[in-house]
Amino acid sequence: MVTSSQCLKKWGSPSTREDEGAYMVVWDVPEYITKAIPEIPRRIYCNTQMIVPLETAFLNIINRGLTNLIKTWDGCFDIRRKRGRNSWSLHSWGIALDINAAWNGLGKVPQMPMQLVECFTDAGFWWGGTWKRKDGMHFQLAYLN
Ligand SMILES: [Zn+2]
Repeated sequence: MVTSSQCLKKWGSPSTREDEGAYMVVWDVPEYITKAIPEIPRRIYCNTQMIVPLETAFLNIINRGLTNLIKTWDGCFDIRRKRGRNSWSLHSWGIALDINAAWNGLGKVPQMPMQLVECFTDAGFWWGGTWKRKDGMHFQLAYLN
């Protein structure tokens, strides 16, 4: 699993943002995705390493006929600490995303269908619903390149 200390080493502190342009990008989401899943924004500000896994996850969702399971897109890049913790959330480097947040609150029993979870884990994401303190809305890159 990717940790915030790995990200700190690779990209530096998210609070300074001086090198953000080196790894963050505005991704113009392909139209075939936003047409099939209207909840997905047309542009996503994310880490360059997110583009291939994220497009793969969306493709899995479309190919497996699960587009109706995406209820809300709840964001990717956001500089913040993990709630109640001191370490940085991986959202701070744009390598995490939240979906269906209203039904999958932090510390609650996730209401995320497993077929949907697998669309992301098959594409190279780690699901927050497996953690001891469950974060069912949350997916983050399982590996860094
Ligand atoms: Zn999250």
